[in-house]
Amino acid sequence: MRSAVRYFGVTNWDMNQHAKIETKIEIRHSTCPHDCPSACALDVEVVEGRSIGRVRGSKKQTYTAGVVCAKVARYAERIHHPERLMYPLRRTGAKGSGQFARISWDEALDEIGHRFNQAEREFGAESIWPYYYAGTMGLVMRDGLNRLTHVKKYSRFYQTICANVGRIGFAIGTGKIAGVDPREMAVSDLVVIWGTNPVNTQVNVMTHAARARKERGAKIAAVDIYDNETMKQADIKILLRPGTDGAFACGVMHVLFRDGYADRAYMDKYTDCPDELEAHLKTRTPEWASAISGVPVAEIEAFAKLVGETKRTFFRLGYGFTRSRNGAAQMHAANCIPAVTGAWQYEGGGAFFNNYALWHFNESIIEGQDAIDQTTRALDQSKIGRILTGDAEALLGKGPVKAMLIQNTNPMTVAPEQALVRQGFAREDLFVAVHEQFMTETAEMADIVLPATMFMEHDDLYYGGGHQHISVGPKLIDPPGECRSNHQVLQALAPRLGASHRGFEMTPRELIDATLKLSDHGDIAGLEADLWRDLQPDFRTSHYLDGFAHADGKFHFKADWAHPPFGKTMGDVDQMPSLPDHWAVIEHSDQVHPFRLATSPSRSFLNTTFNETPSSQAREGKASVMIHPLDAASLDIADGEAVTLGNTRGETTLIATLFEGVRRGVLIAESVHPNKSHVGGRGINMLTGAEAVAPIGGAAFHDNKVWIKKATAA
Ligand code: SF4
Repeated sequence: MRSAVRYFGVTNWDMNQHAKIETKIEIRHSTCPHDCPSACALDVEVVEGRSIGRVRGSKKQTYTAGVVCAKVARYAERIHHPERLMYPLRRTGAKGSGQFARISWDEALDEIGHRFNQAEREFGAESIWPYYYAGTMGLVMRDGLNRLTHVKKYSRFYQTICANVGRIGFAIGTGKIAGVDPREMAVSDLVVIWGTNPVNTQVNVMTHAARARKERGAKIAAVDIYDNETMKQADIKILLRPGTDGAFACGVMHVLFRDGYADRAYMDKYTDCPDELEAHLKTRTPEWASAISGVPVAEIEAFAKLVGETKRTFFRLGYGFTRSRNGAAQMHAANCIPAVTGAWQYEGGGAFFNNYALWHFNESIIEGQDAIDQTTRALDQSKIGRILTGDAEALLGKGPVKAMLIQNTNPMTVAPEQALVRQGFAREDLFVAVHEQFMTETAEMADIVLPATMFMEHDDLYYGGGHQHISVGPKLIDPPGECRSNHQVLQALAPRLGASHRGFEMTPRELIDATLKLSDHGDIAGLEADLWRDLQPDFRTSHYLDGFAHADGKFHFKADWAHPPFGKTMGDVDQMPSLPDHWAVIEHSDQVHPFRLATSPSRSFLNTTFNETPSSQAREGKASVMIHPLDAASLDIADGEAVTLGNTRGETTLIATLFEGVRRGVLIAESVHPNKSHVGGRGINMLTGAEAVAPIGGAAFHDNKVWIKKATAA
């Protein structure tokens, strides 16, 4: 295998021996596997072939451009963490007691096999629900669990916890999930970063936006619900009330039409109903938008003027849209703006959310798609609390879930409706096996815990959601203790469960190779030799200059929500506005719940990944909530004081941080801290809801009405 290999002879002195010791450091290529759109190309120091040193961003890969976030730069701290799980464990105390005893792999696998087969015999195959998510974004280790599900006809897994809402909101306009090359931000004159905080979550966006500012004098505009780290670096700041992006977008488009900034020739050629849109927007004045969004009329007018006058305006639309009950409609409304101005025509202009449509991965072997039985139920990931507590609607009218194998996710902390999730995992009649890297709060509730590899300890195939590269992340070092990869666990379970599929017979490298070939991306040898492959289509295609991806070739101002290009329809689809608008289905504050809460991402945790590394813990500090000083004063809450937040779903206690960068009536809690880090042991997702966001499901993590008060002494 050819890779970016350099050798450094590092001289250390052994003081006892007074002798020089040469430490061999090899620089190997890898790809960041974490749930972050950047999927950074990494240069990893492999020390003596056994351990990891410094991790740097590849300077050769044009998206990563030599930059990675601090938490991955110090990855040695995580991969060589003394608290990693090292061998299989069996629970010996009550669920959640943390009492486990070491057992052998054979004992662990036999027990899982026995309990799964027993559940299948007594309650049917659909009583077993394999559950996974994006703890790794590698296709082999993330999606392989579906192969077992499909072959065994277990309950399927319908993903809703992350990007559905944003994806459909973007694609309903363009026809597919793909946009302008994100590197084109560097040649923009105005970069609008909307609904995302890349300084915290995707540092590479800032690399390209900052380059445009430095080299071209471009402006950076940030549109968000609090003065976050990205907003602080922006030239123009638009501070919205949560869930009002659609209103703001409509107010902006009203001005664009009114003041002659709408590109009528472009719209006539490339969009479906510009006249109808213009008529619809007549009543969506800046005053109307201001009353809903809280953005002053003058700021709406000024933003619209700037967007209208700047042909090269790049809209980087983010995952914040996906966390709101009206998120799809809001994303669509924001995405309509460059179609009104015709910004898509220009280099550095247009919009980008995600490049899902570019990769065309054929995962048929990895996922065992030939074995899918569409008659088996597909359970909603976000509704795990309702499902495990026997909610008939969430169980889709069928029987209870009796056994689970969980890989790559920590629902005891990250899933909404935590009160129900905890109740469900506490069931004595529920058998749970968790395959994990650390003793997470979900692993603590398991009957069997299996130790898992990290990405540098196995081979996998990756794509970048925030760009367009695919790459292999090869195994660089041996795993510690008895850790095994997700794929190895599936291989060992398959015969015990009577599951037969050629995917179980293949190595990860064979699966990668076969997947690349099936997907017309060459083979593993070629991809490793090249380090990555850039799948960005040419300029005309990326900018939809030969037509958008709908059958009529037009960008759709009028959204057909009832017939989404992917996913299954859920939620109040028939109430969604077809033309861009403010859809008022958010959880509005009321007398009992006078505040709106968003649970925004932090810089040093990634969901609950990195919860365990000391430097991330030190940086994030205690679980806290930002509140405007005037709101705090009205409730006699002091900075640093413990406060309890609550709603009909539950309560949580955090530390108040007084901050003028949030609006009155808005609370922001960054990070998903472990439940046990909160006073009282109840985490932030006690407050979040799991009802399906229209049109294809999702969880509205930023859309909560709550009350807040001083915490009473524990
Ligand atoms: S920025 Fe994202 S993809 Fe890049 S190293 Fe950090 S977590 Fe990984």
